Amino acid sequence: MPALVPRSDFSLLSTNPNLVYLDSAATAQKPRAVLDAMNDFYETDYANPHRGAYALSARATERYARARGAVARFFGASDEACVIFTRGTTDSLNVVAAAWGRANLGAGDEVIVTGAEHHANFVPWQQIAIERGATFTICPLAADGRADLEALAAMVSRRTKVVAFNHVSNVLGAINDVSTIVAIAGRVGAVTVCDGAQGAPHMSVGFDALGVDFYAASAHKMLGPMGTGVLIGQREVLEAMPPYQTGGDMIAFVGDERTTWNELPHRLEAGTPNVAGAVGLAAACDYLTALGMDAVAAHERALVRFAYERVSAIEDVRVHGPGAAKRSGVLSFTVGDIHPHDLASLLDERNICIRAGHHCAQPLMRRLGVAATARASFYVYNDENDVEMLVAALESAKRVFAVA
Ligand code: PMP
Repeated sequence: MPALVPRSDFSLLSTNPNLVYLDSAATAQKPRAVLDAMNDFYETDYANPHRGAYALSARATERYARARGAVARFFGASDEACVIFTRGTTDSLNVVAAAWGRANLGAGDEVIVTGAEHHANFVPWQQIAIERGATFTICPLAADGRADLEALAAMVSRRTKVVAFNHVSNVLGAINDVSTIVAIAGRVGAVTVCDGAQGAPHMSVGFDALGVDFYAASAHKMLGPMGTGVLIGQREVLEAMPPYQTGGDMIAFVGDERTTWNELPHRLEAGTPNVAGAVGLAAACDYLTALGMDAVAAHERALVRFAYERVSAIEDVRVHGPGAAKRSGVLSFTVGDIHPHDLASLLDERNICIRAGHHCAQPLMRRLGVAATARASFYVYNDENDVEMLVAALESAKRVFAVA
């Protein structure tokens, strides 16, 4: 199984030919096309958008608008104005919890999150629930790590105002059934918030078709730059939401006593935007679209299936989460009683990058009954050889620790 893209598309990978990069769930490497697009913006069209009455500023504004269009197309969102640029998934989810939550949650209301959430889709909801006197409820997981839909259907009631869940778990790679969750929440009129940090990089999202109220993603996990992300929302929900931050660009009129707001998307983007970030994300979207998201998903499925078979065949290895057929390109495992951090350090000696720890998902770790796991994650530039290197390194680590 060759990589889906040439390593030469990625400066860092081609200048480090022996690097086995298996941490794309944390952040993905950047193709030259993304770096070039950002650089080109700085070199040819750089000025503050919206504010200048001159051609260069108009060009910067135009590039920002074009980036929004490209991102909207990638996410399958027909209403471009409902694509809000943020700093990333954490920022997007905090916007919703703080702005929507503060305006809409009260005593006696209920917020439901799943037990597999990244802290970014857990803590903001826990905290706003505490602040507003709402109940914070955790939806149990099915054996494969997805939200238990029967349990969810039994839990929701007229008190439920929000159901927040991940598209794909960053620990287990388990893919949630978004449409069914949206349908269950819809029965009681609850707003749905989907953390797409691990969904958008790996599969076609189709925001309009999913019907979710809010979808959040990070550019840096989908070949784009750090410090950029999106919050995509349904127009009526975004319009009813008060601004998250106030300041420049997001206003229509500022009086001495009161202020009125600009229209979407500007109302939710206070201050000078990260135009280069948006341009980079748009270039990443174009790069992924040229590959085809179905091809991206198929590549990862094949690679993770191979990795699952090979890694789970190693004695004393426990792979967490669903079977190979049902997961995206993430493999979390523990090897006997070797601490995942020790494992990661040993692998690093062989130039293999994996993540070790609780993966910002302590509630899930408790449910799995482990303190930490090792995690290998795959993307378009990984191939079968990367898996072979991982397996060989794990075998070797086992020998090292057996002797110690
Ligand atoms: N949710 C999930 C499922 C994630 O994997 C991550 C990143 N590890 C986040 C949220 C947070 O993303 P960011 O750090 O880019 O804001």
